[in-house]
This record gives sequence, structure tokens and C-alpha cells, in this order.
Amino acid sequence: MYKFISQVEIAEKLSGGRNSRRRLSDVDKIVLHRLGPQVGTKLVHDGLSMVGEFMKTGKYQAGSYTGGKIPYHLIYHPETMTAYQVLPFTKTAIHAGKHNKSSIGIAVLRDLRTDPLMDEQADAFYDLVTAMSDTLSWVNGKDPQIVGHDQLNGGSKDPDKECPGRLLDIGVVNARVAARSKIHA
Ligand SMILES: [Zn+2]
Repeated sequence: MYKFISQVEIAEKLSGGRNSRRRLSDVDKIVLHRLGPQVGTKLVHDGLSMVGEFMKTGKYQAGSYTGGKIPYHLIYHPETMTAYQVLPFTKTAIHAGKHNKSSIGIAVLRDLRTDPLMDEQADAFYDLVTAMSDTLSWVNGKDPQIVGHDQLNGGSKDPDKECPGRLLDIGVVNARVAARSKIHA
């Protein structure tokens, strides 16, 4: 099981609350990403250190790609099996191009192209995605799609992004979430 820490309030202050509002009923998918663990020159270890890096908007700095807005709703730190929320689900995160408004963004703090999640870390991550999926099912009466960033058309300008990376099998994530889910809408 994962630990859950909300850093929403401080992250909203740090960012000036500039991510735009939306309705939860607009959300029909969960998009999975990899991030860091190094972002810019810093080793990111929780939600606030990540948000801090994305507030830097100089050329090539993390925030230059998001306009200084928060990129994900949730980040998952595998070493401590902790999920940090940094943005209300009723606000749009900047992570998947034209799909931003219709999705929840979850980033794993690991380079999943080269470093896999260990069994226990993966189990905790599936629990997290299941909780998010069940919440959206409950609110919207419909199961959300669970996809990797790469799988979305128009999700990125970079075709070689490989996000979240070959070591996170999205088919397995979907199977594990389906097996854990308490709600099938
Ligand atoms: Zn991504």
C-alpha cells in the first residue's frame, strides 16, 4: 500500500494557482509518465521540489515547457512508496498536449526506460492508480481509460519521448487495476 500526502495547498501558493479550472466530468483518462528523478539540476524527491523546478521558466528550464504551470496532479516516489498530490483534480495539469483538460496526470519519479519498479513498489503504484480510477468511475459513472503518455495522439511534440518507458507495461497496469477495482461503472 502507498502513503498519500497532499501538498496541494502549498503547491497552489508556490504556483500562484495559475493552472486553469475544469469540471471533473470532463476527465475520462489517466495518463502515466516518467519524471526525473533529476529535473533540471535538482534531484526531485517529493511534490513540492518538483513544483519548485517547474516554477523556473527560463530557457530550457522545466517550467519553460509548461508556462510555469504545474505539470502533473500526482507524483509517485517509488523508494518510499509515497504519492504526493500537488494539484486539485478540478484543475488542468500541463502534461499531455491536447489531452490535458480531459485527463489526470500521474508521474513516476524514476526513469522507467532503464529502471523498473520493484514488485512492492509496483503493487503500491497499482493501488494508487486503482484509487484514482475508482474515484473517476464513482464521479462520472464511467471507467477512465488508463494510458501511457506515448499512446496518445497529439500528446507530445516529441515522437521519441518514450514516456513512461518500456519497463512500465501499460497492459499490466490495466489488468492489475481491473483486478483491484471495487467499482466497475
Ligand atoms: Zn510524459
